[in-house]
Amino acid sequence: MAHQVDFSYCAEQGTFDHAISTLSRSRTLILDCEGLDIGMQGGALSLICLGTVDAHAIFVFDVLMLRDNSVNVNPLLRLLLREEVTKVTWDGRMDFLEIQDTYGVEMTGVLDLQLAEVMSREGVRKEGEKQRIIRLASRYFGFQVIKNNRDLYDGIHIVLGMTNCLKDNKLGDGVAKDPEVVAMHRANGSALWLERPLSKQLLRYAATDIYLISLLLEDFNQRGWVNAENFNELRLHSQRYVAMFQDGGRLDPGNVFQKGPLIMLSEIVAKAEEAKHKCSGCGRRKPIYCFETRYANAEMQRMPRCRVCTVIAMKRQLPPNDDWMYVFDVDT
Ligand SMILES: [Zn+2]
Repeated sequence: MAHQVDFSYCAEQGTFDHAISTLSRSRTLILDCEGLDIGMQGGALSLICLGTVDAHAIFVFDVLMLRDNSVNVNPLLRLLLREEVTKVTWDGRMDFLEIQDTYGVEMTGVLDLQLAEVMSREGVRKEGEKQRIIRLASRYFGFQVIKNNRDLYDGIHIVLGMTNCLKDNKLGDGVAKDPEVVAMHRANGSALWLERPLSKQLLRYAATDIYLISLLLEDFNQRGWVNAENFNELRLHSQRYVAMFQDGGRLDPGNVFQKGPLIMLSEIVAKAEEAKHKCSGCGRRKPIYCFETRYANAEMQRMPRCRVCTVIAMKRQLPPNDDWMYVFDVDT
């Protein structure tokens, strides 16, 4: 029988206080949220799950029940705000947005393993351009499409989902995500997280993600993908990664460009003072090298959509970019 993950359910003052006092002793916490379409417009938070670094202790905070029981969750939010306490996430972008919108606080001190995996490719693993293209082609676009328009894909990386990364690294055997819950998600979406009482099965599913992230962290440490030398840099970039949608707030479920498996690393490591230009696809402001550019009458022009949105539009056979537009120093 598959190994079952142990966890503590926190829905009232006593269990809440106990969880906070245990978690406060850890300098590294693993974090994952569950809810209805978290980070999206119309979404709602249900659970905040936090574990100690080796997942010895996993706490599932039921934020809806805590609210009903008039428990002040500020001690929990304070942990999320403490810079010196590292919060380890796997794609924490939606968690960040959901927490920001629900509580008005910006989580800090994040280490995002999805980003760490991407950064380890060129960094620790010394992968080159060839491997980047192979990943993009075999997992998403196909080789011919990229070959036809190579420059368009420059600097674009594909991120992995947690399940794929566990599979690639042969981790989590026997503790995989509960297939019944995965099927429920597929059939009915994520509204099941708002029902009360939540079944033990759903709570365990949420806690299992914490355990799986802890396996990935341990594995990344062993491989040196996360190490003492790159730790601070990874945290800095992770913070920018999870906050990348911060300015626009919750994502629009009708916008196919906003959420996807493609990122430009150079955008995440870009300097804050760099001029940014608004993409007509994803709506985010990005540095000029994220766009196709050309010169006309000695003036620079760019495409309205960033290159990531351009290749997504091609992949989805959506209408192409509008015409070239002039680039002004101060973009509106
Ligand atoms: Zn875009």
